[in-house]
Amino acid sequence: MSKRQMLQFVSVAKEMPLKRDAESRAHDFNEIYAEYAGEKAAEQAARCSQCGVPYCQSHCPLHNNIPDWLRLTAEGRLQEAYEISQATNTFPEICGRICPQDRLCEGNCVIEQSGHGTVTIGAVEKYITDTAWDEGWVQPIAPAEERPESVGIIGAGPGGLAAADVLRRQGLQVTVYDRHDRAGGLLTYGIPGFKLEKDVVMRRVQQLEQGGVEFVLNCNVGEDISFDAIRGKHDAVLIATGVYKSRGLQAPGVGVPGIVRAIDYLTASNRVGFGDSVPEFESGELNAQGKRVVVIGGGDTAMDCVRTAIRQGAETVKCLYRRDRANMPGSQREVQNAEEEGVEFVWLSAPKGFAGDPVESVMVQKMRLGPPDATGRQTPEVIEGADYVEPADLVIAALGFEPEDLPTLWGETALEVTRWGTIKADFRSHETSLPGVFAVGDIVRGASLVVWAIRDGREAADSILAYLAQPAQVAAE
Ligand code: FAD
Ligand code: SF4
Ligand code: SF4
Repeated sequence: MSKRQMLQFVSVAKEMPLKRDAESRAHDFNEIYAEYAGEKAAEQAARCSQCGVPYCQSHCPLHNNIPDWLRLTAEGRLQEAYEISQATNTFPEICGRICPQDRLCEGNCVIEQSGHGTVTIGAVEKYITDTAWDEGWVQPIAPAEERPESVGIIGAGPGGLAAADVLRRQGLQVTVYDRHDRAGGLLTYGIPGFKLEKDVVMRRVQQLEQGGVEFVLNCNVGEDISFDAIRGKHDAVLIATGVYKSRGLQAPGVGVPGIVRAIDYLTASNRVGFGDSVPEFESGELNAQGKRVVVIGGGDTAMDCVRTAIRQGAETVKCLYRRDRANMPGSQREVQNAEEEGVEFVWLSAPKGFAGDPVESVMVQKMRLGPPDATGRQTPEVIEGADYVEPADLVIAALGFEPEDLPTLWGETALEVTRWGTIKADFRSHETSLPGVFAVGDIVRGASLVVWAIRDGREAADSILAYLAQPAQVAAE
């Protein structure tokens, strides 16, 4: 590959990897973006102006050394680019696929700010590590020496797995417990394959297993084993259980068949993708095929539901959101993808009630945006007399997630939580109110992002290492 000069952003336009056309991608769950060809990745990386103060890096939660791996990619030194990229990020190829780059690294690239179109940081990051996998540069962990201390991690999502990786590299004995039958958390059972193909997640789980991380799956802590027992078995414990209590719809007529929770719907769809037998899918309960589907919500989960329904062969798919396009929490890129695939967005609309048993329709009330509240966000207000009936055979509620009540579920009242029910943990050390117990990811932050869970997991692993380095803290052996 030829070595390229940097600062090409004036002469070379921003170009994303090829996106499959909407018609072809609406029939399968494969990712919608192709990989860069090597020369294209180098060309796009060479657009970077190598800023002395790189805002891309400061707005990446992992502070990835972006300018360096862009330069090395432009120079064709891909293995070195990979080494630098993986030094700060446990799963670069996953972040490259699903980080909302427009709000993080790319949204703060100076070239974007100056109107030339951002450097395509996420696509290059994905390209570097996918190439590393193809070339065999990604190897199982092989610690220099084994250490006797053991750490129990509850939750095999990105937060727990990032911590497991750091701890195992230091030779600690790491056991990850998860209530699901596969590891990966929302990477496996929440996020659909068209954003993140499942073999990308599974090869990471396998890499950890091959490196000596023990997985205890189908193990619901609090039911199959007590939290106390986990504490007794390990010298330190990390809680990385995510948030799974769905916010419910508050309107007359809920509770009938045909109104389902987004997490159940997406989990079933992902399981079908793995080839599992899913009775609720086969019965039609969690299957959109041939149905008029209404999804309620405006976040990333709602976007994933509408696009899944399209792929399952829904007759129509509408997304009701009570604010407008500019004020929705979901990524604009995902809205555009959904619209291309045939989803209709009904802005400034909220459900007032549901009719039928099973559900037959949604009574929709129209909204307008009123004056800003204390947070500066405009509050939606009902427009009286503008209600209408929207026919629906399947209603999917995607209104967000809250934490489960872990202190009660686990019988551990000394585990302090915030007024929102998330676990109280020191924001640097991630230590909770219980000595030797740390917590990371969504269960601390509330519903957040994969990249933040990875950062928390890596930081908490460092704190656990420091904690275990104090001789008095290690269980008597
Ligand atoms: P999780 O990924 O939720 O993992 C927690 C794990 O803990 C799970 O495997 C669960 O089974 C396990 N667990 C829970 N309780 C117990 C227990 N008692 N015993 C044993 N195991 C337990 N973020 C992005 O950055 N980009 C996206 O595109 C994106 N899309 C999303 C789409 C959807 C539909 C959803 C729901 C979220 C999305 N997110 C996205 C958010 C992202 O997935 C989460 O922020 C991230 O996965 C949090 O990681 P975590 O490790 O804290 O928890
Ligand atoms: Fe951007 Fe996410 Fe990669 Fe950071 S981890 S460089 S925010 S894509
Ligand atoms: Fe390169 Fe943009 Fe980062 Fe500057 S902000 S170093 S141009 S990617």
